Amino acid sequence: MKLFDAHCHLQDKRVIDKAPELIAAALAVGVTNFAVNGTSEKDWDLVKEMGEMYPSVIPCFGLHPWFIADRSPHWLNTLRKFFETTPTAAVGEIGLDKSPLAAGIDYSDQLVVFRPQLELAKELNKPVAVHCIDAFDDLLEIMRSVGPFPAGVILHSFNGTAEVVPELAELGAYFSLSGWFTYIDEKIAKNTLKSIPCDRLLLETDSPDALPKSDESSSDPEPTLNDPANIVAVLEYVANMSSMKKEDLAELTYGNTVRLFSYPGSKLLEAQ
Ligand SMILES: [Zn+2]
Repeated sequence: MKLFDAHCHLQDKRVIDKAPELIAAALAVGVTNFAVNGTSEKDWDLVKEMGEMYPSVIPCFGLHPWFIADRSPHWLNTLRKFFETTPTAAVGEIGLDKSPLAAGIDYSDQLVVFRPQLELAKELNKPVAVHCIDAFDDLLEIMRSVGPFPAGVILHSFNGTAEVVPELAELGAYFSLSGWFTYIDEKIAKNTLKSIPCDRLLLETDSPDALPKSDESSSDPEPTLNDPANIVAVLEYVANMSSMKKEDLAELTYGNTVRLFSYPGSKLLEAQ
């Protein structure tokens, strides 16, 4: 069974020292690739290095909405340069967040940072990983005006409802489910799953965050870090929710992710 972690952050300072072991442990359970998403100018170099060090790592560069306050005046130019020097890279993580998680982060500023990155992904014809919480109206409006996105827009840790899926899919969206999905009400989760077209479903860990719910973790007073081998728990949960065999779901989502990350210049295309 082959798996592809469509979104994670192995450059995160909480896990970077353990990255070789985490990657080895995930490879051992069948994970062939990791889309490692940068979040700010501070970690783009690290993501680039990981992409050079590990054949399995797909580097992704983007400015995450939570970190926009620290951006330099020339951040967008710096971002462009990263794509010039790293043609294997995809775009991400970028996004919009109106939830309490983004309390204190100016929303109009988020829009100012989000749009040019989405336009850059479109211009470079690369997939882009998008974080969207409580902002699907604005996301749709911007995607309508900038899109469509034949190279794909990954709605990572997808937490929207079934209603927004069809139009997003038509514009080029993929729906990537992480451990967060295991905390969503079962009925809503099943409905959402039913609405997602088969060829647009992905699995991810969002490691080191988004630890999937389990009997052990729910009784654990200390939040535990999530690692990419836990994609198996996400697979099992989503398979159960969609009444699919986990082997079939693995094959489906693996094929979708490989197709999505086989853009011109990508490692996957080179490897073929
Ligand atoms: Zn993320």
